Parts: sequence; structure tokens; C-alpha cells
Amino acid sequence: MPSSRHVTVRVDLARVRANAAAVRQAAGVPLIAVVKADAYGLGGAAVAKAVAELVDAFYVFDVAEAVAYGLRWTGKRTIAVHGEGVHADDHRELNVRPAVWSVEAAARLAPARPVLSVDTGQQRFGVPVGDAATIDAILRAGRIDEAYTHASTAAQAAAFAAALRGTVRTLHAAGSALLGDPAARLDAVRPGLALYRGAVRVSAPLVEATDTVGPAGYTGFRAARHGVLLAGYSNGLAAGPCAVNGRRTVLPEVGMQSAFVDLAPGDRPGDEVVLLGDGITEDDLARAWRTTPHEALIRACGMGRRSYVGFDLE
Ligand SMILES: *Cc1c(COP(=O)(O)O)cnc(C)c1O
Repeated sequence: MPSSRHVTVRVDLARVRANAAAVRQAAGVPLIAVVKADAYGLGGAAVAKAVAELVDAFYVFDVAEAVAYGLRWTGKRTIAVHGEGVHADDHRELNVRPAVWSVEAAARLAPARPVLSVDTGQQRFGVPVGDAATIDAILRAGRIDEAYTHASTAAQAAAFAAALRGTVRTLHAAGSALLGDPAARLDAVRPGLALYRGAVRVSAPLVEATDTVGPAGYTGFRAARHGVLLAGYSNGLAAGPCAVNGRRTVLPEVGMQSAFVDLAPGDRPGDEVVLLGDGITEDDLARAWRTTPHEALIRACGMGRRSYVGFDLE
């Protein structure tokens, strides 16, 4: 989706660092930072630099992401789920540990210290937790000392731990949803969203503000006063909450490249409409857009030009 030239996406790297420190402190175990998908839209390279000293490892979807975000320069290991065609030597060179869930891949990638991926319910990218014989064969073929599962419930994390405990040194299961569950923490936690919450502010100026006369827009929405900003559904925006001059309000109608805002009497052209941040959370957008906070965040990050505050990236 193209971004709008009129939208500003400001990423607060101090907030990402504070989130990482808080997660690490509360969990009491090593932190593996999930920076896949360009760190959910915040920028993989910038986020990796900002949190490198606070984390024990990174997690990405594929090896190309580890290269794109410069993760080898952080000095921390990276786990990558996919690396088709990437040789074990190249994994080692990049300090990337490939996830494996077959005996063949484990044997081929053994020199790169592969990590076992166990399926506890997702039914993709993992060896079934109940298949003890195959798990054992993979562990031996890859000389494996680390395993993980993509658990969405504490019961899945427990099944994983029960199957692998005592066989593999380092086990991890908990993403953001399970951080609050001590039983799911195991030997490390592996969140993405929890690192990014509250760190992004997305805004656009009002280009018009006027008292409303009768029904307005395509939908005939009614308001006392309304304004317009220059981003629309072609940029990923949808109807929902926003904030203007510290007051929570709504976008009653969103068009292709512009959106209407319900305004208060004092609101003027040039005032900022905050689409994410200033009290509008990823969860607020997710509810309005009928999706997950993960998707709401990455969509909002893609709406405009990204800039950074709170950490010196040089
Ligand atoms: C994306 C992902 C995570 C992080 O999930 P959040 O809900 O953002 O914390 C953790 N583990 C795996 C395997 C993932 O793919």
C-alpha cells in the first residue's frame, strides 16, 4: 500500500528500549526480540540498533531479514525460520541459527547450530510435539541445544516443556500474549508486539476545518464541525478513533486519499490529527478495524514517512 506524503510516522526508540527493559525485568529470563517484518513496521535496522544491548538474541522470519537489518553487527545471535538455499557456512557467517523441523534440514545445517521448531497447535513450520521419535532424530542429527514453539496458550507451552525438558538446554515459547504467565516463560521469552506498544505516533495535519451543514461526505454523516486530512484507505486508513488537540474523536468516513474528522469548535486547519499515539492505542485501532493489534500497528506504520526520536542511531 502506498504511504501518504502528508502523514508523519514518528518512532520513539526510547520507548522501545524501555519496553524491552521492562519485559526483561518482569520475565527474569533472557529476551529474544522479534524484529520480523521490519520490526512490525517500526524499522528492523533502527530497532535492532536501539535494543541490541538489552536483548540476548533476535528472531526473524527469514535469513534475508537478518541481512537487511544488519543483525550480525549487533553481536547477538539471530534465529531465522526460513533460509531455503542458505548454506550452513553462510548462516554461521551471519550469526544466524536456522530453525529446523526435519531430520534432513537438521543434518544439513548442523554446523550452524540449528534450533528445533516444535508444533504445539499452529500446524505449520514445526515437528509435532507428540512425535517423540522424529524429535529425537532431529535433535541428534542437528546436535541441537535450543528449541522453541509458537505457543498461543499456556497449555501449549506446558506440553512443549514437558516433551523437551531435560533433553534440550534452552527452551522458549512465550510471545507477547504469554508474557504474564510465569509457567510459559521457560528459559527465555520471545515477544514482538510488547516491545513496540506505545512507541509509534502517526499523525497528519488538518487541511480543512469547517462547520458542517446537513449531511456530509458519501455517507451523509452528521457533525457540528468537521475537518479533512490527506490520507485514506489507499494508504491503509479506515474509520475509527483519532485525537485532535488532546481530545479523542473519530474519523466518521474515510475515502480513497482523504478522511473526514469530527471536530470541536476550536479546531483549525494545520492542527494535527493523531491516528496512533496520544491515547489512541494499537488495540483501539484493532477494534475499530476488526483486526489484531499486530496488523493495526504495521498498517499504521506504513501510512507515512518514518522518523526516529529517543536514540542516537549514528
Ligand atoms: C511473531 C512471532 C512471535 C512474536 O509474537 P508477538 O505476539 O508479537 O509477541 C514469537 N514467536 C514466533 C515464532 C513468531 O512468529
